[in-house]
Amino acid sequence: MPELPEVEIVRQSLDKKIKQKKVKKVLVRNRNLRFKIPLNFASFLKGRKITNVKRISKYIIFCFSGDIYCLLHLGMSGTIHIISDIKKNSTTNASFYSSPILPKKHNHVEIIFKSFKIIYNDPRRFGFFQIINNLNLLKARFNNLGPEPFQLDFNLKYVFSYFKRKAKNIKNFLLDQNFVSGIGNIYASEILFLCKINPNKKAGNLTKKDCLKIIKNSKKVLLNAIKRGGSSIRDFKDTSGKKGEFQKNFNVYEREGLNCKRSTCEGKIKKKIITNRSTFFCELCQNN
Ligand SMILES: [Zn+2]
Repeated sequence: MPELPEVEIVRQSLDKKIKQKKVKKVLVRNRNLRFKIPLNFASFLKGRKITNVKRISKYIIFCFSGDIYCLLHLGMSGTIHIISDIKKNSTTNASFYSSPILPKKHNHVEIIFKSFKIIYNDPRRFGFFQIINNLNLLKARFNNLGPEPFQLDFNLKYVFSYFKRKAKNIKNFLLDQNFVSGIGNIYASEILFLCKINPNKKAGNLTKKDCLKIIKNSKKVLLNAIKRGGSSIRDFKDTSGKKGEFQKNFNVYEREGLNCKRSTCEGKIKKKIITNRSTFFCELCQNN
């Protein structure tokens, strides 16, 4: 599933390509996504100029002239492909996850520009588009989202007081979008490994020092992933080899039974299901 770093890479690729470009035409090949694409979607976007491509949490936001916005959530399996009219590029995927080239099936939406088009592909159909008619509605849409790890309001005061007397475990809090937005399942395990905190630990029992570690490492893990993903797609090189390289960098995620990567630790990586989500941690250095 695309998490915040992957979504940010898609945003960067799109922003580079479609900023200040006018939509020539929109083709909806299949309206069936998590929410049905509205019938007037194509006619509504036709002729509008894209001023910016932004991101809030895991949502990509196409900003159009005239205070109009189109949200895109990539769901479980959504990818964006950039197809040039002139030269055939070997890699079309705007990010480094899933197929590097455009799959034959499940191409739901084509947004056509002057010399290229972008195609939204989504085999599992959990992604969706949503039109928002002005900035106030856009702000209201994200009202209940917690801050992102990069934002200043994700600070010690906020985190420590949020956790006070809470019995829920820290892993669940990292996935709770009302508390902090944009941390997904893979990165939650990675963050807790760097903090040496057990994923099952009650949030209310975390010290101020623990909270500071969580703040610091949340930023670190997400920024690293963005940086690595960014360098692998910057020139739209072949991403298939790079994908493996990216995954090699996980410390705990999908490393069940393997040795802990801390040179000073003899522990093995364990997998545990916490609230229906796979959670990976070191049995030894994350035992408190
Ligand atoms: Zn360890």
